[in-house]
Amino acid sequence: MNASKVNRRNFLTISTTALAGAAAGIMPPGLYQQETPKPKIKTYRSLGRTGFRVSDIGCGPAGMSDEGLLKAVLETGVNIIDTAEFYGNGNNERLVGKGIKGTKRDSLFINTKLQIAESHKSEDIVLKVRSCLGRMEIDYLDGMMLWNPGSSKQVKNEEFHKAFAQLKKEGRVKYCGVSCHGSEYSKPTENMDQIIGSAIEDGRFDLVLFVYNYVQQEMGNNILRACADKNVGAILMKTNPFNGRYTDMINKVNKMMESNSPVPENMKYMYEATLQKQKAGEEFLGKSGLADPSLRREAAVGFALDNPAVSSVLITFSTFDEIEPYVSLSGTGLNRGISENINTLRENLNHLYCRHACGICESQCPEKVPVNAIMRYHHYFLGQGREKYAMQKYSELPGAKPGNCTDCSGHCEAACPYGVSIKALLLAACSDLEMKRES
Ligand code: SF4
Ligand code: SF4
Repeated sequence: MNASKVNRRNFLTISTTALAGAAAGIMPPGLYQQETPKPKIKTYRSLGRTGFRVSDIGCGPAGMSDEGLLKAVLETGVNIIDTAEFYGNGNNERLVGKGIKGTKRDSLFINTKLQIAESHKSEDIVLKVRSCLGRMEIDYLDGMMLWNPGSSKQVKNEEFHKAFAQLKKEGRVKYCGVSCHGSEYSKPTENMDQIIGSAIEDGRFDLVLFVYNYVQQEMGNNILRACADKNVGAILMKTNPFNGRYTDMINKVNKMMESNSPVPENMKYMYEATLQKQKAGEEFLGKSGLADPSLRREAAVGFALDNPAVSSVLITFSTFDEIEPYVSLSGTGLNRGISENINTLRENLNHLYCRHACGICESQCPEKVPVNAIMRYHHYFLGQGREKYAMQKYSELPGAKPGNCTDCSGHCEAACPYGVSIKALLLAACSDLEMKRES
């Protein structure tokens, strides 16, 4: 069976068919090796002071379009789901509602994120949460999160806390949380760890969601220490910095050149500027045996799970064939092989990863391009397969787009302390996010 053709029915019947066939001695040669038993979650961890035991591999369903996929994920034992009121304009919450039918409600930890504006009063926020509950057809939420506040001041939004207190009293929400992946250009105030740190210090938040991976460790380490100190649940996102799709651009341009299609100027620039580095990176991947994305996935998840302060690593499952590789990493951590892989990946591909929640270079850009937000949207596009959402966010983003980057000497690149080839990456991001929008 071709892995890419795995669907819910196949996924759920594979193991029993394979095992029964093998037992009866009627399994065609080779089939047993192809069709493996259904994977299961091996480890559950405490979500801070909530006391809830969540699966170490969690589910971010933002990239799903089929509730059957969510059902299949839950049947492996995954029991934490993180959605948002604004994913798909509420459709993702509707999908969650359908996907959880048939699963015992109290076995699940369901979290949703809310976009709160300064003008929102507590009554508005209460209404928002009631709408979330309605879309998911559930009586209560386990977690209600303030989405991406831009400052420590915003985590103290009394209207939000008042709404949470009321909903908690009514039994509609159990716990309060905050998520953060950095501020956008219009609000360049504090770093992710300062914002989340202030929420932990505030004392009213039971769980936090943030970016942490083996390339981008510093801010996450600060947050994880604070979580451990205050017994706050730590949920991670964006844990795989090199998910295998960042090399797509070279292939794309090669194909266009081979077929004599016109190559857009910005893609050409990006191509030429990064070809050498890409080649070196690819050679490295080939020589080191890390060309297989599954090894990079193992390194990324192993690193994240190795930290005992981490409660769960959210995976943006978007296809059935992603279930087995990720769920089978439950209960793992670092071993010598993984540690070596991490070090070599970081050393050799460092320049291809713009750190989420960074934005250090933005103040140097004469055009005020919101570098970090654009790169985050490109991550949604490439790394999570959420193309429409990424394009929509990009089109709504205030501030200049990288249109003038081609003629700029690259102040951003000079200012990046991590040596990221950001000018070229920005142009690549722009070509993906705009090109598809036009087609
Ligand atoms: S290019 Fe460098 S400085 Fe700019 S946001 Fe990315 S990682 Fe930070
Ligand atoms: S290349 Fe120039 S215009 Fe483009 S983001 Fe960097 S500094 Fe700004």
